[in-house]
Amino acid sequence: MSALHANLHGNLHEMGVAELSRALTKKSVSSVEVTTHLLARVATHEHLGAWLCVDAGGALKQAHAADAARAQGHVGALLGIPLAHKDIFVTRDLPTTAGSKMLKGYQSPFDATVVQRLTAAGAVTLGKLNCDEFAMGSANENSAYSSVKNPWDITRVPGGSSGGSAAAVAARMLPAATGTDTGGSIRQPASFTGITGIKPTYGVCSRFGMIAFASSLDQAGPMARSAADCALLLSAMSGFDERDSTSAQRPPQDYAAQMLKARDGANSDQPLKGLRIGLPKEFFPAALAADVNGAVQAALAQLQRLGATLVDVSLPRTELSIPVYYIIAPAEASSNLSRFDGVRFGHRAAHYSDLQDMYKKSRAEGFGPEVKRRIMIGAYVLSHGYYDAYYLQAQKLRRMIADDFQACFKNQCDVIAGPVAPTVAWKLGGQGDDPVAAYLADIFTLPASLAGLPGMSLPVGFGEGGMPVGLQLIGNYFDEGRLLHTAHAFQQATDWHQRAPVLADEATT
Ligand code: GLN
Repeated sequence: MSALHANLHGNLHEMGVAELSRALTKKSVSSVEVTTHLLARVATHEHLGAWLCVDAGGALKQAHAADAARAQGHVGALLGIPLAHKDIFVTRDLPTTAGSKMLKGYQSPFDATVVQRLTAAGAVTLGKLNCDEFAMGSANENSAYSSVKNPWDITRVPGGSSGGSAAAVAARMLPAATGTDTGGSIRQPASFTGITGIKPTYGVCSRFGMIAFASSLDQAGPMARSAADCALLLSAMSGFDERDSTSAQRPPQDYAAQMLKARDGANSDQPLKGLRIGLPKEFFPAALAADVNGAVQAALAQLQRLGATLVDVSLPRTELSIPVYYIIAPAEASSNLSRFDGVRFGHRAAHYSDLQDMYKKSRAEGFGPEVKRRIMIGAYVLSHGYYDAYYLQAQKLRRMIADDFQACFKNQCDVIAGPVAPTVAWKLGGQGDDPVAAYLADIFTLPASLAGLPGMSLPVGFGEGGMPVGLQLIGNYFDEGRLLHTAHAFQQATDWHQRAPVLADEATT
């Protein structure tokens, strides 16, 4: 093997989607070589807890097929690119657990639309990634299988609920992965692990085959190292699906092209000239950690240097998004999770006296504490006598939160920016038994979720303990192209997204 070849192979895990795609097109590397290299890396970093299932045999078969397709002249940005899916997407060939004991050993008869589309685009599936049980959580500590460690500091959480996806991409086990975001589960783990993720507008990616948490909020999206790589995945994942009744009826989108499209009046020094970035004062409260604020302010200054102007705006109901979300999401969850009854899916208690007892025992054994808490809250706020006081009131406020964003986008700004989370990633076990502490930390991601708006997180620096800090960008409906364009311009001028954690077993002395 030539020195150049050896060097290239040593660095295969450093390459993102676009770079790998170019190497595959030039045939300087094969999908089988990349897949083999990454599978070895996955095996070495098992201690991070990112994976719930690894399918080496299946992945190599897909990689061979991708190489054969390329040899026959087939092309495609994702042809032969290794990926993996959050274990909330059902897969025909691999088990799906949703991070729950309830679905241990469950095998779906079909693939989720997102999985099917990425597979059809030629992506190679390495396996399934750990997540909080039914995507409920902010630290991946609610998984029934194992916690996930943050590759930047293994004593800290990777964020959640897409914690396995974030850790695997950050630790360079994968160039990209899928995630889902109901109240921040793509953006917050991306921020905590120094990667880039986008939650598109509600309805852009099909929810078919995504195990439902809160159906009016759930949305799939890509998690990768750069905006450019997210754009490639999103183009393949998104699009109308008649099997999801809330899927947006729009023609297929080329997000990579939208990302590159020059703004009117822009030039190479000032690619963001004319872009108005709104800074909601409620996103910069006194309680915001100084390290997070510092990195975010430096990123905003960088965006200004790229031509953007900063304007002060207000989202007055930001704080209310916490109680509103933590009424609506559990309400929908209590309804969605009623299907797990020990009859049609998953776990059934071994011993019971009658049907009622079987339901009770199966659910008591199958669900973890956070899921049970949410089912109870949801059943309560939907119950007769409380529905008007809680659920209906929350729905009214949800509309007002969405209206507040529209007031900003109408004539004040084109995108909104702020922190993703009030602090950097906290210590494993750091929130002890205090679920409300975790709920409060969702304050900056919940508003866009409730409004159904697209939001993304991109790495912009480091804070306390050397932990990554993310910048959140929120756009108007279907304005993913502008978010990606803004993030891409930032990433062309900076290298935060290229910083990789030094994993313990790789440290050189
Ligand atoms: N942290 C939020 C929750 O626990 C968001 C989860 C998500 O987006 N899936 O509900």
